[in-house]
Amino acid sequence: MIRRVLVVGAGLSGATLARCLAEAGQPVDVIDQRSHVAGNCHTERDDQTGILLHKYGPHIFHTNNQDVWAFVQRFAEFERFEHRVKTTVQGRIYGLPINLHTLNQFFHETWGPEAARKALAGRRHVGTEPATSFESRALRILGPDLYEAFFKHYTAKQWGRDPKTVPASVFTRLPVRFCYDDRYFSHEIQAMPRNGYTAMVAAMLDHDDISYELNTRFENSDVAGYEHVFYTGAIDAFFGCDQGALPYRTLRFEHHRAQGDFQGCAVMNYGDADVPYTRIAEHKHFAPWESHKHTIYSKEFASDAAPGDIPFYPLRPVSDESLLRQYVARAKALKSVSFLGRLGTYRYLDMDVAIAEARKVAKEFLAAKALGRKP
Ligand code: UDP
Repeated sequence: MIRRVLVVGAGLSGATLARCLAEAGQPVDVIDQRSHVAGNCHTERDDQTGILLHKYGPHIFHTNNQDVWAFVQRFAEFERFEHRVKTTVQGRIYGLPINLHTLNQFFHETWGPEAARKALAGRRHVGTEPATSFESRALRILGPDLYEAFFKHYTAKQWGRDPKTVPASVFTRLPVRFCYDDRYFSHEIQAMPRNGYTAMVAAMLDHDDISYELNTRFENSDVAGYEHVFYTGAIDAFFGCDQGALPYRTLRFEHHRAQGDFQGCAVMNYGDADVPYTRIAEHKHFAPWESHKHTIYSKEFASDAAPGDIPFYPLRPVSDESLLRQYVARAKALKSVSFLGRLGTYRYLDMDVAIAEARKVAKEFLAAKALGRKP
């Protein structure tokens, strides 16, 4: 008899993995402690207005990975969606990521690409030591004026820390462009599932060899009943946080209903220190193919996660990763449990990367099993 495997978590990583295993004939049980699938990319229609809500903040699918793109399209109809973000700073509105329009507006100039490059080269900090922090990297690339206006205070609000202690990798998520391309992402494929991520994930889990239970917490004793457990929950929580909790940022949303159109775009960031929220997302603008008389917009407030809060962003300070290393070493030593996903690996993962990694984990498990090795 084929023994079942358990997937803990019905987010993108868990659902992708479960689907790939089930399609190869491996029966899978999936559990999730929440009352819905899709984890933090959960979407839900508001019952009063019919607007599709990104309940845990905006999620836009973007990738260059054709395998991932082909995979997700089997479970949802996608609409092309190019995300454009505006930001309000110092009483003005600009486009992000920083592009030639932003630069010309900010400096009141009419630069072409070469003039703008030269102007930034004259402003940026030079240095020979590696720029490992958010602040040092931003100053190397942008210089102080742009950094302070667009990034310094937003980053302090988002991460609750001095940007000197936030890793440079967070800054390099955003490009700087010397042209008028104001799309937030540079990937070739940028799209939204027409009916939301929750419908897409539910379709992934709809397979004869998958059975799933919501509102079900994982207990470590569950491991004994399965051939293998794939755990997508928080790595520290698996060990009962017995060496201390890994730090996370959590988000709180303040939702508002209104008539018409509130801000005219999907996301408006707020770069100034005296605005307590980081951004406002207006949900109907993530589905421009729909039309709604009403609108719902959500102000987003970031704070350190307390016990019981939903973890959103792993907080990887530049300096100390020893606690994480200890949990990772213990996780590796567990032969019948694999850890994956944003929380299982404690990384800031984009959706396409989470899906690609889950597909790889499934392939490796199936290959090891086919060879008769213990996966
Ligand atoms: N960021 C910023 N100002 C902005 C937008 C982003 O300082 O107006 C910084 C901030 O530190 C953020 C990082 O850039 O965490 C990456 O931005 P991204 O939009 O990728 O963040 P996400 O949407 O994943 O929260």
